[in-house]
Amino acid sequence: MTVLTGDRPTGPLHIGHYFGSLANRLALQDTHEVFVLLADYQVITDRDLPGEIQRNITDVLLDYLAIGLDPAKVTIFQHSALPELNQLLLPFLSLVTVAELGRNPTVKDEIAHSSQAAVSGLMFTYPVHQAADILFCKGTLVPVGKDQLPHIEVTRTIARRFNERYAPVFPVPEAMLSRTPLLGGLDGGKMSKSRGNSIALKASEDETAALIRRAVTDADRRITFEPETRPGVATLLTIAGLCSGREPRELAEEIGDGGAAALKRLTTEAVNEFFRPIRKRRAELTEQDARAVLAEGNERARAVAIRTLEEVRQAMGF
Ligand code: ATP
Ligand code: MG
Repeated sequence: MTVLTGDRPTGPLHIGHYFGSLANRLALQDTHEVFVLLADYQVITDRDLPGEIQRNITDVLLDYLAIGLDPAKVTIFQHSALPELNQLLLPFLSLVTVAELGRNPTVKDEIAHSSQAAVSGLMFTYPVHQAADILFCKGTLVPVGKDQLPHIEVTRTIARRFNERYAPVFPVPEAMLSRTPLLGGLDGGKMSKSRGNSIALKASEDETAALIRRAVTDADRRITFEPETRPGVATLLTIAGLCSGREPRELAEEIGDGGAAALKRLTTEAVNEFFRPIRKRRAELTEQDARAVLAEGNERARAVAIRTLEEVRQAMGF
């Protein structure tokens, strides 16, 4: 079994990543071959320029190492270092229709949140690029958040169609959801790096407190866990529950009439306590350590991409 998963280097990772995907990667690194992608070319799907790309790559690398991804077990690499992976995009694009791409609900949501006035071809086709990410290493298991499920479906379709049209080269991968497939942000939407509504793993204790203080809640003093009608309160209860290993409902009962202030205090303490050792480890790592891990990972991953592209060319008769 081979695991592929990744993140866009658009900013430091947040606690939604931790509970949505990183925790699963940690659990898998001892038993599976794991590839972790810094999806740098996908940064420009929803913005004109890659921005502080080097800074962001270093940040995400430090996050990976701080949470305990072990570079001896896990191959960490980036799109832009693997031309052979990107070349898989060409045959793969021929295996999907424009109508299929247009129906993808996650792409629609991301277009709605994009900073661009018009949709680029890269945004429209990035689920196919993701198929190349997963299939270059013949990934079978993809630990992701819920927003990624439509994309995994595209990858499965591409693998099946390639195998039918040419030769059985690719496994058909499965998505692996965590117990928290979609953590809400501090504004009621999906917690996202680029939406200014997240708590970064690397945030200081004071920054965490300030972020949570600004979180959207409601005027009802009695705290209850009702995700449908009270999403802001429910998100804080969920975060506090994940970090303290307790049930959100039970925490709500304990807070009772304490109101949003008590809820925010409890959430802040839970987050700071849970992430304290990770933040401490992060502060001890150097940027050079992180960069060396990426250079080595790029080399390992590229050898795999070269092999797969060769197989694909052979299967297609090129
Ligand atoms: P951006 O706003 O730049 O798109 P993001 O926060 O959506 O950033 P990605 O790099 O797009 O993060 O996603 C990386 C992985 O983390 C994906 O598997 C995604 O499903 C998962 N993920 C992202 N946000 C959440 C969340 N709020 N809850 C659970 N999983 C999440
Ligand atoms: Mg995203």
